[in-house]
Amino acid sequence: MSGNRDTGGLIIDPFGATLVEDYDRLFTEFGIQPLKPLLSQIPNPCAAMRRGVIFGHRDFERIIDAMKSGKEFAVMSGIKPTGEFHLGTLMTAREIIYFQQEGATAFYCIADIEAYEDNGIPFEESEKIAVNNVADILALGFDPKRGYIYRQSREERVKDLAILFSRGVTLATMKAIYGERHMGLYLSALIQAGDILMPQLKDFGGPKPTVVPVGIDQDPHIRFTRDLANRFQSKFKFIPPSSTYHKLIKALDGSYKMSKRNPMSYFTLDEDPDTIAKKILYAFTGGRPTAEEQRRLGGNPDICPIFDLYLFHFSRDDKEVIDLYNDCKCGNILCGEDKMRLVKIVVEFVKDHQRKKAQFIDKAREILGVK
Ligand code: SF4
Repeated sequence: MSGNRDTGGLIIDPFGATLVEDYDRLFTEFGIQPLKPLLSQIPNPCAAMRRGVIFGHRDFERIIDAMKSGKEFAVMSGIKPTGEFHLGTLMTAREIIYFQQEGATAFYCIADIEAYEDNGIPFEESEKIAVNNVADILALGFDPKRGYIYRQSREERVKDLAILFSRGVTLATMKAIYGERHMGLYLSALIQAGDILMPQLKDFGGPKPTVVPVGIDQDPHIRFTRDLANRFQSKFKFIPPSSTYHKLIKALDGSYKMSKRNPMSYFTLDEDPDTIAKKILYAFTGGRPTAEEQRRLGGNPDICPIFDLYLFHFSRDDKEVIDLYNDCKCGNILCGEDKMRLVKIVVEFVKDHQRKKAQFIDKAREILGVK
């Protein structure tokens, strides 16, 4: 297993900063495979796959086989309950729902142990956040009848796996993958390995291909878990989990990472729509200083968070995204009008989502066993 890298514009760290300026380097330096060559074999690729937002994978061929043949497979991912749904968690939620709709049994983990170990959020607090997060994913279309939503801290099978796995891992291995960290983070990594492999336990029908859709920052967990799946092969007959990787959406201030320290760099799905509209209108763009220059020289959608918002979430039509890219480059469109159009789409989506979500709060409490 190779550790994290920090080599000029490339840092992969699930517990810290992740910076990827050149996604192609992940193929050569981390052994992630490009998704593009498989695209034509995927029965019904989602928009994020078609648009290159989901750009890489490990062993995704296994999942394609299952999708095509109707064999049982699972999707597993989760959320750290540290706050409301934002554009990053929305991406993961949509991926889980996509695979569920394509036939997977879906596992959605509330990573409350990681929220405690990584962010210091006590369980009483993360429980409240989790109710909110589960209502979000239900409102987005997750079908609880064909899925399993659980909290790490309440799932004995996950914890039992973590205890078993701990005998197969040395401190040196943990340091090589995650760097020098407090023991709690190593523990939460073992727990996450338990999350990823739990769908293959007898209780859930035994070994099966499992895809874990994640942001690229989570790849160390995937490598670690695949290694554990091999080490504990003889006992459990685990199939090493497959994974897909999505790019990280740019922050509204143009930086690589949305940050709670800068509320103008992101918005959540719980925010007041007027505030969201303002954040979009104030966002950084790839535009030119004057309208005249923009018409003459064109803008730069490659560095523009407004373009990312269309690309990742808010345009249903692939051709519309391509047209926007070209119109921006050619100076056929100005940032002001582009932002206004996006504001309308986002505000409509958020209002609709908030209305739906309110109807799922009780269901979320019931699923999580919260009074
Ligand atoms: S026209 Fe749109 S995509 Fe192009 S730089 Fe301006 S806001 Fe971004």
